[in-house]
Amino acid sequence: MTEKTFSIIKPDAVEGNFIGKIVGRFEEEGLKIAAMEMRHLARHEAEGFYAEHKARPFFGELCDFMTRSPVVLMVLEGKDAIAKNRKIMGATNPANADAGTIRKLFSKSVGENSVHGSDSPEAAAREIAYFFRGISVYSKK
Ligand code: GDP
Repeated sequence: MTEKTFSIIKPDAVEGNFIGKIVGRFEEEGLKIAAMEMRHLARHEAEGFYAEHKARPFFGELCDFMTRSPVVLMVLEGKDAIAKNRKIMGATNPANADAGTIRKLFSKSVGENSVHGSDSPEAAAREIAYFFRGISVYSKK
């Protein structure tokens, strides 16, 4: 099914100059960039986005990291985009990520792991709506 998912190129990858290479991986795998914006997140935006992790010991560190420098917010579109994006990203901890995945190629640690990707249709809908207006997960075509 053609669907949309939400992706972030995180500060470590922007600082490392990997925006083009990461966008290139999505395009190579057939995902289209349906929306894109680069900007520096406010603290309250990072905290709201990661609210489900509020009780975790790394929450403060995660929000510090996500507001350290600009990020690239994207909506990716394509067949099975949600699962496909997660596969292209690789495991949360780059040490466990498969060869060729973004996290294996570009990430240094479980905290600074270069990309975010929605993990379900519900998360995709919520996360797209958090940053972009008027875009729904499923398209009519
Ligand atoms: P994801 O869906 O693969 O991004 O992973 P999770 O939803 O489990 O975690 C969300 C994000 O929190 C991860 O992508 C990391 O940036 C961060 N994170 C997860 N575990 C840790 C940790 O142990 N330490 C730190 N500093 N950050 C973490």
